Amino acid sequence: MIKEYDVVIIGAGPSGTACAYNIKRFHPESKVLLLDKSDFPRYKPCGGGVSPEVQNYFDFDIESGIDSVCDEVVMIANGKNITSKKFPLWMVRREKFDTFLLDKAKQNGVDFISSCEVIDIAKSKPLSQVLTKAHGDFLTKVVVIAEGGRGKLAKKLKISVENTVLAALEYEHYTNKLDGKLYIDFDYNDSGYAWNFPKSDGLSLGIGGFIKGQDKGNIGLPKQLLNYSNKFNVDVFDKKNLHGHPIMLYSGRQKLVHDNIMIIGEMAGCVDPLTAEGIRPAIKSGYLAAKVIAYSIKNNKPKTLINYDIAFHKEIGKEFYYARIMSYFLNKNLKRILPMISRESAINSFMSVFSGKSTYQEKINFKKIMQLIWKSLF
Ligand SMILES: Cc1cc2nc3c(=O)[nH]c(=O)nc-3n(C[C@H](O)[C@H](O)[C@H](O)COP(=O)(O)OP(=O)(O)OC[C@H]3O[C@@H](n4cnc5c(N)ncnc54)[C@H](O)[C@@H]3O)c2cc1C
Repeated sequence: MIKEYDVVIIGAGPSGTACAYNIKRFHPESKVLLLDKSDFPRYKPCGGGVSPEVQNYFDFDIESGIDSVCDEVVMIANGKNITSKKFPLWMVRREKFDTFLLDKAKQNGVDFISSCEVIDIAKSKPLSQVLTKAHGDFLTKVVVIAEGGRGKLAKKLKISVENTVLAALEYEHYTNKLDGKLYIDFDYNDSGYAWNFPKSDGLSLGIGGFIKGQDKGNIGLPKQLLNYSNKFNVDVFDKKNLHGHPIMLYSGRQKLVHDNIMIIGEMAGCVDPLTAEGIRPAIKSGYLAAKVIAYSIKNNKPKTLINYDIAFHKEIGKEFYYARIMSYFLNKNLKRILPMISRESAINSFMSVFSGKSTYQEKINFKKIMQLIWKSLF
């Protein structure tokens, strides 16, 4: 007999675990199944910079799942260093952090199956069927797709979101030569930035760049990252620690609820288009979906699932709209604008948004930006 659930969540990254945990938190009687094709702990290419604001989406102490706290950020542009020490950021190792969140979900009563790849979803009312490669099928009232930037299911079902794709490369350099500082460097790439995110046992070195038309697959990131890594005494890459991964940036309002199928996390385009921050928004999208799902199941009101669409655009999309405009201006004029915003006040504003102390809506002054662009032209 096919097993039946209230909710099946596909993907146990931060969005999936936040969703699973919070559904049980808001509706403890619900039957929730979480599936992931990987075996945990699993590596995920990521700088691992997390805003402490994520604590708002859980009722347990999340700090015990992090690797370290970084309280000095250095931005580098045109060889000039600007430091911000006002806004501490959490650093996480994803293999540890994601497993920590997964364990919390399991302790809260969520069923979990690892090494369980979902290959299809047969959409139907009132129950949809989730088909897996090796663990049989499941019937469920709600399906949540939390498959991350490399997922294939939403595409297969033709409900995927159109995102702007950023190519990214990450190198994990394990060392004890550490200064504890986080570096963001604009001098190594014309359409993005390079980063060094410190961990207690090494450095997560990375670089990101936009994929444009015929450049696809050939934007020279490995060479740029190696040049950058030389700064931190890395002369050759140990291939097993080098990981490429696309990042799906938010690119405008799109449909995330399709009857009883919902999309959360990066597959929903839930990544800040200016900074490529994805963990906090993924967790927030999981939390918002959980609230809506718990209500819908508790009150047997499937039609209310659509409220996730509304909540997402109110709580996340609106903020990303501002980030998108900023990103557009910066990308068009990066070389001209950078010298003008290379100031402590600018990096403090940026860090206050990243750390969750303020919002883009509060910090962005479009009149000032237009003046900067105008000034940069003449
Ligand atoms: C190089 C790089 C650096 C980054 N640095 C940062 C950073 O410093 N800070 C930050 O906030 N964000 C960063 N991001 C973005 C961040 O990593 C992601 O946005 C975030 O992990 C998205 O979470 P998620 O839960 O949506 O998906 P994921 O974390 O990708 O999890 C998806 C899960 O779904 C599973 N899955 C996929 N398909 C299936 C299937 N068919 N069946 C079963 N399971 C499936 C996968 O195994 C995976 O475990 C970075 C991204 C990259 C690529």
